Amino acid sequence: MSTHHHNSLAGKHIAVVGGGLAGLAAAKVLADGGASLEVIESSDRLGGRVASDVIDGFTVDHGFQVYLSAYPEGERLLHLRDLDLQPFMPGALVWNGARAATVAHPLREPLAALVGALRGVIPVRDALRMIPFALAAAHGPAGGPGTPSGRTVLEELEAAGVSRRTIDGFFRPFLGGVFLDRSLNTDSSRMRFLLRMFAEGFACVPAKGMRAIPEQLAASIPQGRILLNSRVVAVEGTHLKLASGETREADAVILATGAHQLARILPAFSDLARLHEIPWCSTLSAWFATPDPSVLPRWLVLNGSGQGAFNHGAAMSAIAPGYAPSGRGLFVANSAYLPHGIDTCRDLAEDMRRTLGEILGRRATDGWQLVSLQRIRHAIPRQWPRDLGTHLPASLGPHVFIAGDHLEDSSINGALRSGRLAAAACLRSFA
Ligand SMILES: Cc1cc2nc3c(=O)[nH]c(=O)nc-3n(C[C@H](O)[C@H](O)[C@H](O)COP(=O)(O)OP(=O)(O)OC[C@H]3O[C@@H](n4cnc5c(N)ncnc54)[C@H](O)[C@@H]3O)c2cc1C
Repeated sequence: MSTHHHNSLAGKHIAVVGGGLAGLAAAKVLADGGASLEVIESSDRLGGRVASDVIDGFTVDHGFQVYLSAYPEGERLLHLRDLDLQPFMPGALVWNGARAATVAHPLREPLAALVGALRGVIPVRDALRMIPFALAAAHGPAGGPGTPSGRTVLEELEAAGVSRRTIDGFFRPFLGGVFLDRSLNTDSSRMRFLLRMFAEGFACVPAKGMRAIPEQLAASIPQGRILLNSRVVAVEGTHLKLASGETREADAVILATGAHQLARILPAFSDLARLHEIPWCSTLSAWFATPDPSVLPRWLVLNGSGQGAFNHGAAMSAIAPGYAPSGRGLFVANSAYLPHGIDTCRDLAEDMRRTLGEILGRRATDGWQLVSLQRIRHAIPRQWPRDLGTHLPASLGPHVFIAGDHLEDSSINGALRSGRLAAAACLRSFA
């Protein structure tokens, strides 16, 4: 692979601005292609929005995130086996305000899905009606969401005949948790891709935390080619200015800073000013240490009651035991919005714990202690049909390329794909 571009690439230097998944995917493709490159990252670590901390022996990701084993970009760019992916049970434990029942994946386990239905979470009629919907989902787009449909998730579910009760009781917390947007106004192309991914694989986390994903990508970047704590403040052509006052001249640049930072460093492109205005979806994640790991479920937990701040959560230690020290458990509870003020956040965390006490039983939630409370305002760019209407160019000149989840869909797969495509275009520009 590396010889292919070699001659034309000789002496060329490529700067990748931003070391999130998009920038790291681009850097990996460039390095594999034999290019000389450098990753310039403003913070003190790589990974961007995908990160994990170890706190008192607990692995705490930055927000609740999962990797879907069927993501096509992972097949191309990651050694999945080395990530030691730990799968969730396919389905969810759904709370309707009175009782909790497991809703298994309707395709994988149709009988269990019906049992869930019979236990009163969704009407039997609805469960039956969803079989063709689930079958169609299994044949949805596998490569990515493709072009926006212009229709919302809600419109599409209603058109498929899914009842209001099932929409509110299941799809609102499930897709609201994935898109961090309970309005269900997200473009339905995102849902179709996602359901295909859920039909084909599993939601997983790497055994050692989500940060294993950026760490693996970073390992393919040659030594000494990562510049941390270095903010790019302006880009003119392929000329970069850093906050330190230093400048950098490259033969090509890939800008992978995330949508709201991009507009700041490219003042010359007034078109990009609207990037500042992209609304973001936000979340509050409360990580609880629990004294008895044996009572925690291996399912994603969804709140379909419409009551309280808790939307979705999971017992991380029941999925990936390495997330907690032995003998302890770790549960992450999430809202699909963010209140103002840290005091309100603490109240919300307590409110989420109370709801979980009702869902899982008081015994399961006794003695929980807050390990970490994360307010994540810029989680994912909103993806309503009107947000996706105007397309950003993927390049701003012959040697200036853009990458980031805002160019594809707001997901790990979208970020990786945007980086891979930007790097390929960059390599082609020298061919
Ligand atoms: C709470 C939460 C939950 C999520 N859940 C999921 C999920 O379950 N599944 C899924 O697939 N996806 C999920 N996502 C989405 C996924 O994490 C993102 O789409 C993806 O990580 C975006 O990567 P990126 O490289 O495009 O952007 P970022 O990760 O934002 O990377 C941008 C990088 O550029 C750096 N930077 C910014 N400005 C400058 C500058 N001027 N100079 C130098 N460097 C700069 C930043 O520090 C950062 O490191 C979730 C995201 C969040 C936050």
